[in-house]
Amino acid sequence: MPPFSNQQQKLQKITILGATGSIGQSTIDVISRHPELFSVYALTANSNIELLLTQAKLCHPEYVVVSDKRYFTQAKEMFTREGLKCEVLLGIEGLIQVAGSGDVDLVMAAIVGAAGLLPTLAAVNAGKKVLLANKESLVMSGDLFIQAANENNAQILPIDSEHNAIFQCLPSDYQYGNIVASGISKILLTGSGGPFLNRPISELPTVTPQQACAHPNWDMGQKISVDSATMMNKGLEFIEARYLFGLKPEDIQVVLHPQSIIHSMVQYVDGSVISQMGNPDMRTPIAHALAYPERIESGVKPLDFNTVANFSFTEPEVVRFPNLYLAIQASKAGQYATTVLNAANEVSVEAFLQGKIGFTQIAEVNEECLQQTSAHVLDSIDAVIASDEEARLLSQKLIKQMNSSVLQDVI
Ligand code: NAD
Ligand code: MG
Repeated sequence: MPPFSNQQQKLQKITILGATGSIGQSTIDVISRHPELFSVYALTANSNIELLLTQAKLCHPEYVVVSDKRYFTQAKEMFTREGLKCEVLLGIEGLIQVAGSGDVDLVMAAIVGAAGLLPTLAAVNAGKKVLLANKESLVMSGDLFIQAANENNAQILPIDSEHNAIFQCLPSDYQYGNIVASGISKILLTGSGGPFLNRPISELPTVTPQQACAHPNWDMGQKISVDSATMMNKGLEFIEARYLFGLKPEDIQVVLHPQSIIHSMVQYVDGSVISQMGNPDMRTPIAHALAYPERIESGVKPLDFNTVANFSFTEPEVVRFPNLYLAIQASKAGQYATTVLNAANEVSVEAFLQGKIGFTQIAEVNEECLQQTSAHVLDSIDAVIASDEEARLLSQKLIKQMNSSVLQDVI
């Protein structure tokens, strides 16, 4: 069998968790190019039932899941009216059912935030090939997540472009947790620096959600776009990389590369650096993981080195990107700290998007929440969820306090 042949592939059934989001839509774009390789088992959405319907007409899934119960009845009526044969399921039970079903081969985990934890774990516990975009689930439950993957023979393939790049640059016999055995000296995690890399720091408190979401290179959902502007995204990715590849904090160096052409690199002890490059389009890592270990066409424009701008590299500034360093600290403190930070960040980013706090207050809420939480052991998913909920309540309280102290300042 030639190494790059697709001949041995059978039709793979896929569940796309978070189908209506940015990653979900890119996944549908890639699999639609390969009807001979993939068929859709289930699509899920939180509330965008119009897009879910359009996608269902294209992909003919056996199930769709609507998470927000306010849209469920309307979705059922819409799907029946349009003559679609698929069953409409509701909420977390529906997500868990379609993620863990015995009929499914692949699960794309692309729900945003902590809401993705239980459905992604359901896929892991059922021993699926899991295409992991939902980095938050790994940030919250890393040790338990990796343990569950090992116990159930689940294959985790990274979708985050940096982790997918690292995965491609590692040797095929890489031993989890042992970079020395593979002759590796450093993992170079690249990031663009987002839309505010060169903005005067004095202007950061007053930047708007619209400006924060206007990423120079990547077209993404709102939450990850804000995380990219604060570089919390790189912080979450630092934690994600530790769990995915079994790394120590000192194994990873964050490198700013504003052009987003190099998606990350692996540096070897002999001085070699292997990087993965390409145009910034998530269909590349999605196609890589879908077909792994083979290669399929993704629809991404080939990189043209005659038109690529110069590559540049710098170190992220601490004062500009406090969230990045907060995440690295949390990663060193342990699982409770990364869970608390992730929850605080989801709450503070949402408050920023709703105009309740300023951009620089995102990091203030996150830091204060971490400081006010004492160290505790998270030895079960229930404990992770309890810790997440507690941190959300604390962050909401901190945001209220901030708003009332701002009011007092005005008075
Ligand atoms: P998005 O906001 O565009 O889409 C999120 C999806 O999750 C939607 O389908 C939405 O319906 C669903 N969802 C939201 N809240 C939900 C809830 N409470 N219950 C069930 N479903 C819910 O987000 P995105 O940009 O596609 O990102 C998805 C995940 O992929 C995130 O974890 C993100 O960090 C990761 N990721 C995204 C990119 C990117 O380029 N967009 C790159 C790397 C990693
Ligand atoms: Mg990324």
